[in-house]
Amino acid sequence: MKIDKQPTVGDDIDSRCLKCKDVTNHTIVALVGDQVARVQCNVCKGTHNFRPVKIEKKPTVRRQSAGRTVAGKNGLTSRVMKAEAHFRELIGGRDPLAAVSYAMTANFKDGDLVDHPVFGLGIITRKVPPNKIEVTFKEGSKVLICAPAEHK
Ligand SMILES: [Zn+2]
Repeated sequence: MKIDKQPTVGDDIDSRCLKCKDVTNHTIVALVGDQVARVQCNVCKGTHNFRPVKIEKKPTVRRQSAGRTVAGKNGLTSRVMKAEAHFRELIGGRDPLAAVSYAMTANFKDGDLVDHPVFGLGIITRKVPPNKIEVTFKEGSKVLICAPAEHK
C-alpha cells in the first residue's frame, strides 16, 4: 500500500525558502514530470525553485571489522614470531655449523643441533624412547625417528 500521493499543483509542501531563511510551507506552482519544480512561499509569497528539506544524517562510519581483520593477522604473526623467538632462545650462542645432518640411523643426544633437509636447523629438545626425538625447529617442534638409544 502506497500512502504517498503524487504532488500536484496547488498542493502544500514544505520547502526551504531563501528569503525566509527557513523551512516554510509552500504551494506547488509547477511540476516537471513527477518532481516539484517551483513553489510559492506561503510566508513571503515569493516564487522560487523547490528546495527539498534535507534530513541531515551524521556519518556513523565504523571500521571495527577492518580492525578485527588486522588483529587476526597480527595474532598469526605473533604466534610465528613467538615460535621463532623460542627457537632462537634454544639455540642461543650455538654454532649452526656444529649441527649434525639429520638421518634416521643417527644417534642424537639432548641439546644436539640438527640440520634437517626439509625443516632446516633444529635442536633436540626431548628424547622419545625408544627411537624418536623431539626436535624444535624455527616453525615449531616435530617428532622424528632416530636410531634406538644405546644401552650401556
Ligand atoms: Zn519565504
